[in-house]
Amino acid sequence: RERGSWSSDSAESDGSSDSDGGLFRVLLLGDSGVGKSSLTNIFAGIQDAHGEHSGEEIYERTLTVDGEDSTLLVMDTWGTEGDEPWVQDYCMQVGNAYIIVYSITDRASFESASELRIQLRRMRQAENIPIILVGNKSDLVRSREVSVEEGRACAVVFDCKFIETSAALHHNVKELFEGIVRQIRLRKDSKET
Ligand code: GDP
Ligand code: MG
Repeated sequence: RERGSWSSDSAESDGSSDSDGGLFRVLLLGDSGVGKSSLTNIFAGIQDAHGEHSGEEIYERTLTVDGEDSTLLVMDTWGTEGDEPWVQDYCMQVGNAYIIVYSITDRASFESASELRIQLRRMRQAENIPIILVGNKSDLVRSREVSVEEGRACAVVFDCKFIETSAALHHNVKELFEGIVRQIRLRKDSKET
């Protein structure tokens, strides 16, 4: 049934083929300090708020969304290896879905998010990859530099979903990962018909 793609003999085949088991690689992209690891740790169920690094960068968890199980392999590997170009290329190629994070308190990180979206589009041209744009640190109201409207408008331009989260308050984090599962399923379903 499949030809020409990578090996598709296990659930760990690349997501452009039908990975029956529903294992999806989700990468977090974004500037350093925006909260990628904090969001990942919440996904992984790691509670220790003070330990900067748990050592691991890839977490697997099965979520039940709309009555159906999907397993996400969440990869917090962006910008952790001294930004070597091959790591960046690898990250851009390996994901089945992307979470692009900026901090609402850091306009430069919002601009970086746009650049990342463009880079992703360039590298994965033919594919309709699920992406969610995330404005994190929504609890820091008084140091907000990027409005909700700007975030939303950016997502419209980039044809992706948008959500504001607070890793500190665990606000909307569950919704974020459920959202990525739904986006993956939507694209998958439309491909199959
Ligand atoms: P990364 O470099 O993108 O992985 O960012 P981290 O997850 O390491 O977070 C950088 C800093 O921002 C840490 O001190 C976090 O505690 C803090 N941080 C992350 N998310 C939030 C948030 O939603 N609200 C607040 N107030 N601080 C956050
Ligand atoms: Mg980190």
